[in-house]
Amino acid sequence: MLVVMKAHATEEQVRAVCQKIESLGYRAHAMPGAERTAIGITGNRGVVEPGTLDELPGVQELIRVTKPYKLVSRDIRAENSVIRFPGTNATIGGKGLAIMAGPCSIESHEQAFAVAERVSHAGAQFFRGGAYKPRTSPYSFQGLGEEGLRIMAEVRDRFGLKVITEAIDNESMDLVEKYADIIQIGARNMQNYSLLKRAGRAKIPVMVKRGMSATLEEFLMAAEYVMSEGNYNVLLCERGIRTFADHTRNTLDLSVIPAVQRLSHLPIIVDPSQGTGKRNKVTPLSRGAIAVGADGLIIEVHPDPAHAASDGKQSLKPETFAEMVKQVKLIAEAMGRRIAPIKKPVVAGW
Ligand code: PEP
Ligand code: MN
Repeated sequence: MLVVMKAHATEEQVRAVCQKIESLGYRAHAMPGAERTAIGITGNRGVVEPGTLDELPGVQELIRVTKPYKLVSRDIRAENSVIRFPGTNATIGGKGLAIMAGPCSIESHEQAFAVAERVSHAGAQFFRGGAYKPRTSPYSFQGLGEEGLRIMAEVRDRFGLKVITEAIDNESMDLVEKYADIIQIGARNMQNYSLLKRAGRAKIPVMVKRGMSATLEEFLMAAEYVMSEGNYNVLLCERGIRTFADHTRNTLDLSVIPAVQRLSHLPIIVDPSQGTGKRNKVTPLSRGAIAVGADGLIIEVHPDPAHAASDGKQSLKPETFAEMVKQVKLIAEAMGRRIAPIKKPVVAGW
């Protein structure tokens, strides 16, 4: 059920409706929009009895939401959601494109700083890197853990980039929340519902990557899990799905971008690195992603891909990344979008 407030409903009226909903044993999710606030009602008690809700001051109408996803749906918010990072120009969603780049795994301070310097110069506003790696083999490099997170926090201080990194369980989530600006939920964990709920209680934005075999509905439901716990700063990421194709590691499903945008107000970005698994396909698919209307890109970049601890074959060299950004900028312009540089903080000594 969705309560649509009148255009001029006051904050007190919104609060009173939320209180009434909670007193009935449900959860209220107030979503301010450009023209009006909508309040989503969730809770696992089945159908909500409208009761006296529609008679409360400021209420325009009650709408039954029949889709399984409610808070991610455009029914509750018609316009696109924009995630903002106060004190910077970086946004995810809206007119600006979000460019995230960095190594698959954080390997050392030197490696992280070498990449961060180059990608920041090329136009990235976000630094990606894994400190906790969900590897197919238990014998592969598992990440530096908290040390990796500390290095990422230093990258933020030095270059002003916002940092995004994956949490693989509740324990790593506590630390990721402490050090990072965005929590990444990996493809393998897209249906780890307790982890999604924990992310929903985090105070920072969450990026949900599409599972390797997830349908559109399953993908949206994963985001719904996060939002249902009260975290509304959610973005989606298409990273390729498993098919019979053997010319790539995964099949990057760019058609999911307009499909998501039709149904959901959430921003969606594309990961052509995991999405193709091949360095030579990252630039063409990055161009394609922006042309179909994605809100940004997340790209693996390594100074020495041949010796990367993980995913070297799909990692771009910094100079190739810079060239890719140049090409993408031209396409962005044609799409009425731009890549806004992140405002650097003033740091003494440089
Ligand atoms: C990654 O970003 O390095 C990663 C492991 O992503 P995914 O969860 O999409 O495989
Ligand atoms: Mn990777």
